[in-house]
Amino acid sequence: MSTNNFSRLRFNFGFLLEAPLGTSRLNEISYPTIRVSEDVTLTPLQGQFMATRTSEGVYVNGRFQTAIHTECVRCLEDALVPITIQLDELYFYPPEHAPQDEDAYTFDGETGFIDLAPLVRELSLLETPMQPLCKPDCQGLCMICGQNLNEADCDCKEDNIDPRLAKLRSLLDG
Ligand SMILES: [Zn+2]
Ligand SMILES: [Zn+2]
Repeated sequence: MSTNNFSRLRFNFGFLLEAPLGTSRLNEISYPTIRVSEDVTLTPLQGQFMATRTSEGVYVNGRFQTAIHTECVRCLEDALVPITIQLDELYFYPPEHAPQDEDAYTFDGETGFIDLAPLVRELSLLETPMQPLCKPDCQGLCMICGQNLNEADCDCKEDNIDPRLAKLRSLLDG
């Protein structure tokens, strides 16, 4: 059983199990913000997906536009990074027909619900850049005093250059 009983990404597709193969249902989602798991919050989450009855289960495909809450690698402040996730997943039914050798998703025919939260979490993390930034031109933190340079300048820059060295530099550059 899923431990995430309060997922807001659960959809009742029980009716698809009785429907002829090829039957599909288009679903639209739009959440201003949604906590998909303990480590993933998306703001907003919008898009469409199709759920289709196939001989192997229920096939889900679609595309969501979203932005994931993470931390900026330069200034360490919260960053909201836009991502697009592409759903393309088969939920095996009956579940025991799922391949044993991989982490296949299964469709629980008893409840009739598919919880997209684990899939959306996985795809969101895959799409998150390795070095997320709060904004493309984030100035980061001062290496010396730790000041967030997006918020204010510090005096380190000027103090950093010894006046004598500056003079030498200007001679060399000249
Ligand atoms: Zn930043
Ligand atoms: Zn500084």
